[in-house]
Amino acid sequence: MKPAVLVHKLTKTYPLVRQHAPNGQAASDEMITILDGVDLELGANDFNVVVGRSGSGKSTLLNIVGAMDRADSGQVLVAGEDIGKLNDEQRALYRRKNIGFIFQSYNLIPTLTVEENLLLPIHLADTGSDSDVDYYLNALGLAHRKNHWPDQLSGGEQQRVAIIRALIHQPPVVIADEPTGNLDEQNSAMVIELLVSMVKESGACLLLATHDLNICASADRVCTIEAGQVHYS
Ligand code: ADP
Ligand code: MG
Repeated sequence: MKPAVLVHKLTKTYPLVRQHAPNGQAASDEMITILDGVDLELGANDFNVVVGRSGSGKSTLLNIVGAMDRADSGQVLVAGEDIGKLNDEQRALYRRKNIGFIFQSYNLIPTLTVEENLLLPIHLADTGSDSDVDYYLNALGLAHRKNHWPDQLSGGEQQRVAIIRALIHQPPVVIADEPTGNLDEQNSAMVIELLVSMVKESGACLLLATHDLNICASADRVCTIEAGQVHYS
């Protein structure tokens, strides 16, 4: 079977920033290599986990695969299309249709209700139907939260809404960057179970970064990022 996402020889460097420099200026022209020739194959309908210590480049990798950031070199092929070749406007349109993103700190829009947060991706992607909002809120036990504001919800509830938001427009690729990083153990387990079962049902490919080794138990594939490279275990 062809992989849904193929990452080939990806590299990314950043200017080396001095933490305590006056005015945050760079120390020199020195660059730091974060991704140093990363290869990755993500199967459609697979739950792929990337583990690695803080600062190892997990978010950098996920942001490039999710078309939020650009690599210096290498390719990200999604369903055969090289997304590095898209210009900024094309990338924005591409993300709306093809990517669902779940963040550690939920990132619901605070000035929109739960319902409005969930209608947004449907309208931006122009796929799915408004009635999907009720379907998913019911399925995840959140129907009573429909007209509430994000800051009225607990962390676990906000992340469940964020999972619906990431999936409701039926994207082929779902990316989750430390989705349980702000949750306690019980909520983490619930969020992962819901996320994985919803992704499996939708047929999407899930790429999740974490340093919680408990999550690896339910993954189809686990790889480790270290010293700029990815190794399968
Ligand atoms: P992780 O998600 O594994 O914790 P990140 O991908 O966020 O790691 O960061 C990897 C490294 O790249 C870190 O050393 C971080 O300081 C550095 N970095 C990330 N973004 C930038 C940036 N915009 N400018 C400079 N350095 C950055
Ligand atoms: Mg990170």
